[in-house]
Amino acid sequence: MDRLTLQSPAKLNLVLDVLGKRPDGFHELRTVFERISLADTITLTRNKSDKISIRCAHPHVPLSSKNLVFKAAALLRQDFSISEGLDINIIKNIPVAAGLAGGSSNAAAVLSGLNRLWQLGLGTQELAGYASRIGSDVTFFLYDTSYALGTGRGELIRQLDIKTKLWHLLVTPRVKMYTADVFTRLKLNLTNKKDNVNILLPFLRKGDLVRLAGSLSNDLEPAILSLRPDFVYLKRKLLDAGAAGVCFSGSGPSIFALAESQKHALSLRAKFDRRYTQAFVVSTL
Ligand code: ATP
Repeated sequence: MDRLTLQSPAKLNLVLDVLGKRPDGFHELRTVFERISLADTITLTRNKSDKISIRCAHPHVPLSSKNLVFKAAALLRQDFSISEGLDINIIKNIPVAAGLAGGSSNAAAVLSGLNRLWQLGLGTQELAGYASRIGSDVTFFLYDTSYALGTGRGELIRQLDIKTKLWHLLVTPRVKMYTADVFTRLKLNLTNKKDNVNILLPFLRKGDLVRLAGSLSNDLEPAILSLRPDFVYLKRKLLDAGAAGVCFSGSGPSIFALAESQKHALSLRAKFDRRYTQAFVVSTL
C-alpha cells in the first residue's frame, strides 16, 4: 500500500470544566468531547525521498515543521528508523484556530494512518503515548467513539458508550482566537465548583434535549467574552432564533447551538450572514 486517504473530524466540548492550574503550567480539565461530522481529508503518500512534505491550500495552515501532522510523522519516522519520505495532503474544511481541534485531529489521523501504511503494529495505548506528546486534544481522535470524557490536560480519555445523535448549528466567526490568550485571561473560581460533567451525562444518555441544552457549559466563556465582548450578541442571536442551548467549543471562537433536528439546524443557519461567520449544520459522528 502506497497511499491512504483518511477523514479527520472536528470535536465540540459539551462541557469544559477547568479544575485548576497545575505545577507544569497546564490546566487540569474535565470535559465531554463530541466527535462531529465536519471533517478535513488527509491523504498520505509514501515517496522515495527522505523528506516529509505537506500540501494544504488554506492560508493559515503552516507547511513547515510547525504543522502538527509534521510532528506526528517525524516522531514515528524517527522512532521506527523509517528512511523513506512522505507526502501529506490536507484538504481543510475545519476552521483553523477555532476551538474545534482541527490540527489535533489531523495529527491523530496521521498517527493512525502511518501505523497502517508503515505497518508499525502499534496499539491504541502506544499511539496515545505519541498523541499526548503532540498536543492535549490529539488523543481523543484515536478512539472510534462519538463521545468521550477527557481529564488531565484533556489527553486522558475514557470512551462513553452513548448512542444519542445530536444536531447542531456550528457558527465560527471569521477571527482566530489563540488558546494561550484565552487561558491567560481565565480567572479561576474554584469555590463551589459544580461537577458539570455528571450533571450533563444522564441527559445526554437519555437524549433529553431540553435538559441537555440547560447543562451545556464552558468555564472559558468569561475569558473568551473578555477578549471579544461582541460575541454575546452571537449567543443571543442563536437563542432568539430558537436554539435550545448555546455554548462555546474549547477556547472559542466557535459557538454551537443544540438543534432539535437537521431541519431545525438548517433553519437556524438561514439567519447568519456568511460575510462575518461561517455556519455549518453538523451532527454527532
Ligand atoms: P486547539 O484548541 O487544540 O488549539 P484549535 O481548533 O483552536 O485547536 P487548530 O485549528 O488546531 O486550533 O489550530 C491552531 C494553530 O495550530 C493554528 O494557528 C495553526 O497555525 C497551527 N496548526 C498546526 N498544524 C495545523 C493543522 N494541521 N491544521 C490547522 N492548524 C494547524
